[in-house]
Amino acid sequence: MLRFILQKATVLVAVLCMGAGAQAQRGSFAVGTATAAPGQKATGFIEVPAGVDAATSIPVAVIQGAKPGPVLALVSGSHGTEYASIIAVEKLIQSLDPAKVAGTIVILPLVNIPSFLQKVPHVNPVDGKSMNRFYPGKQDGTQTERASWLITKQVVERCDYLIDYHGGDLDENLLPYSYWSKTGNQKQDTMTHDMVLAFGLDHIIIVADRPADPNASRYLDSTASTRGKPAIAVEAGHAGTVETDDVEALTNGTLNVMRYLKMLPGEASAIEHPVWIAKIDPMVSDKDGIFYPAVQRGTYVEQGMRVGYVTDYFGNTISEARAPSAGVVLYICSVPSMKKGDTVAYVGEIAANAP
Ligand SMILES: [Zn+2]
Repeated sequence: MLRFILQKATVLVAVLCMGAGAQAQRGSFAVGTATAAPGQKATGFIEVPAGVDAATSIPVAVIQGAKPGPVLALVSGSHGTEYASIIAVEKLIQSLDPAKVAGTIVILPLVNIPSFLQKVPHVNPVDGKSMNRFYPGKQDGTQTERASWLITKQVVERCDYLIDYHGGDLDENLLPYSYWSKTGNQKQDTMTHDMVLAFGLDHIIIVADRPADPNASRYLDSTASTRGKPAIAVEAGHAGTVETDDVEALTNGTLNVMRYLKMLPGEASAIEHPVWIAKIDPMVSDKDGIFYPAVQRGTYVEQGMRVGYVTDYFGNTISEARAPSAGVVLYICSVPSMKKGDTVAYVGEIAANAP
């Protein structure tokens, strides 16, 4: 908020200095090496310097609209093989026209380039850490922590709203869904409730157990929400595929949230009667072996229903995975590799009432 007060004060001074009739100019907006003047689109990199391990560069695009408005951050590719979400955000960089935008959009299309290039799911192969679990990061930590620290400083702290994009990873057969995190701040929660409805994915997970400490926020969206910035996370895509339906769900959802935030012209729509998920029950394998799914993502299961099984390396069944509760299969492992302790599936328990 202080930023806007200062900005307005600067504009006021500028108008006074230039006298009547002169048009106030907004300054350029820079993130990393990308600097965009009003009405411009610029690309560059957030340079993460070498520390205890190698340096890395995170691509960034800044689109400063011709008209003033809020700052919206779009972040994708913390998991570099969740391809549909990365491709969707790439398309937004190309398609968004600064002339039509009110406000500024800061876009990180691919946070985890080592994961993307080496086709390593879930983690940054440089330090073995998930790039969505170490926020707000550390200036002197490993590469993931240093990158997270710079994203916190340069993107999260300077935005007003944030959307974090994910999807089913290489080994995840996942249903599109969004997360609505309840923070207890009524105003903020109402705003994010509206944002997930505007985004339009038809399954929405209610999350109420995220960290409240901004210095131990772990997740990117929690890093924003613990700093008073409404944030949502969205997921679409699965198992290494880039399907048009998934990409379009993410791009159309983003454009509609921008309409809701008055950053694009037009009326925002809102999905009616989505499936609200009250709780996720993760199912974990108790054996190493070969996994066979018995249901698809999106299948509704009763408690005790078999969702898959694990065999030994000779084909003998050694473990059966049965639903711990009734609900919808949000995702199920899509590959035969199954290690003891790894996730077999997520079953989402349907909320009794819409929040
Ligand atoms: Zn992810």
